[in-house]
Amino acid sequence: MALANRMSRVPVTIDPDACIADKGCTVCVDVCPLDVLVIADDKSTAYMKYDECWYCLPCETDCPKDAVKVEIPYLLR
Ligand code: SF4
Ligand code: SF4
Repeated sequence: MALANRMSRVPVTIDPDACIADKGCTVCVDVCPLDVLVIADDKSTAYMKYDECWYCLPCETDCPKDAVKVEIPYLLR
């Protein structure tokens, strides 16, 4: 059985069509204090590798392509 290498349901999602990781952008990875975002091995996009998040939002606000969406849980809003 093949294992998926991307989480399907995480609080931080990245639009792979908007992401410019293939052009060398690593802003969201660099600003995350928990190091839970990574660039895919093929450099096509960033994605959330570890489902831990402080909902501090610099990944979303600093992304130059507005590709990051942080889904803040209802009870934390
Ligand atoms: S900051 Fe935005 S464009 Fe840059 S790697 Fe992260 S998601 Fe992609
Ligand atoms: S909201 Fe904060 S902790 Fe969560 S992925 Fe973005 S930068 Fe990292």
